[in-house]
Amino acid sequence: MMKKKLIIFSGAGMSAESGIQTFRDSDGLWEKFRIEDVATPDAWLKDPKMVQDFYNQRRKQILECTPNEAHELIVKLEEHFDVQVITQNIDDLHERAGSKNVMHLHGNIRYSKSSGPAKEKMYYPIEGWELKLSDLCPDGYPLRPHVVWFGEEVPMYDQAIMEMRTCDILIVIGTSLQVYPAAGIIHYAPLHAEKYLIDPNAESLQSGTGFNLINQSATEGMKKVVSILT
Ligand code: NAD
Repeated sequence: MMKKKLIIFSGAGMSAESGIQTFRDSDGLWEKFRIEDVATPDAWLKDPKMVQDFYNQRRKQILECTPNEAHELIVKLEEHFDVQVITQNIDDLHERAGSKNVMHLHGNIRYSKSSGPAKEKMYYPIEGWELKLSDLCPDGYPLRPHVVWFGEEVPMYDQAIMEMRTCDILIVIGTSLQVYPAAGIIHYAPLHAEKYLIDPNAESLQSGTGFNLINQSATEGMKKVVSILT
């Protein structure tokens, strides 16, 4: 029998229990920056070194973190379902946990791309944590982190919607659903899909109708959903 298609739509809360701060209930590093000042094309034009340093620090921290139990439970779901992860996260914890199909809506911090005008999308893996302004693409432009900044297009948007339209089960985890257009993708799930929203703040999020709300952390919430589904 064909496995049912299950989509995980994750945000920063997914990685919170791995020790990576979320965006809105932030502390530490995030407090020192206004995110709009380091995550926009303008910021890069004004002060590329500050932007590069900011992402180098993020990358360094991400490399020191490991996937949490919720990431692992998602991998286990592959025994029962055809699982597609669609994440807003720029960390690679889903991959490191072992998830096979991971789509990054906002890029992957472990990769770089050209800051030049080249239309072709080439992504280069970054060795270690540091990307330097002297690291250049083959056309001679500095490499920038492969992350989607505010005001930039979400390149995987159409593909994510296509995936969402074919899901039987949708599990949304740890996202404030405030960053558009990414957050809007959950509304493309079919009416008949079984939907869960895991977030300690689930009841106050704008998820729309039809969601089973689970007001818990990613790990506790995933345990609950796994027990319902398997
Ligand atoms: P957000 O910070 O806006 O919202 C985080 C959500 O996670 C909140 O709703 C919060 O209640 C919830 N949360 C907090 N702790 C949790 C836990 N233990 N378990 C489950 N949920 C928990 O995050 P967002 O909606 O993903 O939007 C932020 C944007 O910033 C994203 O687009 C993302 O690209 C980026 N970001 C990425 C990372 C990362 O890659 N790990 C971290 C911070 C921000």
